[in-house]
Amino acid sequence: MPRFKVAFKSVHSLFSLGLIAGLSLTQALSTDASAGQDLRFIAGPNVSKTLIAERRQLLNSVSERVIAPYLLLPPSITVTVPATLDASFCMNETLTHFEITVPAQMSIKGAKPKNPVLTDTVLEHEYGHAVLQYNLMQSSAFRSAFPKYMKGYQVRALLFPLQDQRAALEEQIRMLNTKPDATPADLAQMQAIQNKVDHLDAKLDALADQFKPYADEFQTIENMLGDYHEFFADIVSVIYSQNPKVLWQALYTPQYKSLLRDDKKKLAELLQGFTLRRFDKGLRVETYSQTEIHVSLSPTRAYLWKYYISNPLYKHRESRFLKTLQETILQEVTERSRQRDLIDLDPEVLNKRFMAKIDQNFPKIAQPIIGGH
Ligand SMILES: [Zn+2]
Repeated sequence: MPRFKVAFKSVHSLFSLGLIAGLSLTQALSTDASAGQDLRFIAGPNVSKTLIAERRQLLNSVSERVIAPYLLLPPSITVTVPATLDASFCMNETLTHFEITVPAQMSIKGAKPKNPVLTDTVLEHEYGHAVLQYNLMQSSAFRSAFPKYMKGYQVRALLFPLQDQRAALEEQIRMLNTKPDATPADLAQMQAIQNKVDHLDAKLDALADQFKPYADEFQTIENMLGDYHEFFADIVSVIYSQNPKVLWQALYTPQYKSLLRDDKKKLAELLQGFTLRRFDKGLRVETYSQTEIHVSLSPTRAYLWKYYISNPLYKHRESRFLKTLQETILQEVTERSRQRDLIDLDPEVLNKRFMAKIDQNFPKIAQPIIGGH
């Protein structure tokens, strides 16, 4: 059993997530620094070069059309593309390098893999996480407001590769354990692997100690950011596609109804989770009670879509729009972090405060810009 509770991967998923252990990578395609961004793709078995080329083009297009010039592009990203995955994606970051895993086709709980085109939305969403995180951490306001978060982030980034190594070794031990007739050589090999695990554990313990002074601030900010992170990531997909239903389309599969026919409660939760990610469904904020981070800000989604994203005054100002959203998030998280009673908010207050900040900050985008973009 892993002993480390302190560090974890930033996992963003609607589904229970299995790590992609054992994924064998057959091709590592070359980098593309055309946009000043080192973009690497690693394709899993049976993933075509054409698909990888399309995904690369997609990220370049998202960068050009909605991220730059107001937001900074994350300087280095590796996108791993397995053929299918029972989970959507996971992300792992250092301060300048981001790792994204998005399958060629989504396939959840035995359902038929979805059309690869729908997975574009998931990649845009994951890229949105990288963009927000990078731009927050590059902002001097964020750095000076949350120095311990910054330090904690760096220590945590050192933990990731060690945790991955540990998981791979544990897997090897598990495989050896399941052999029906273990030979003395097998037992010796298991012992050798166990020694490596112990060695890694000592390193992980030392890093966990290093993390301790930053843990409180790190966790508070990380928790607070969660709701806004998912919101921002979904907005990147929506603003790029100009389609308020794009996340629902990417996630919903009619087969869930038969796959989960024996678990009506789970089915209802799953379907509701998908529906709440639509931007064209008005929700009453006064009675809203969902706290799950992908949907906690859903009333604000419909609000932002109705008054801003679909408003012609804001058309073709996507980069400035997303930059303003990032600044609004920073403003809100900073304000909340300074007042104990604002750290944990119920969904009604969370949404109302955020909508009010949006109304303060967004109208300036619609005004003509003199001498600028
Ligand atoms: Zn996410």
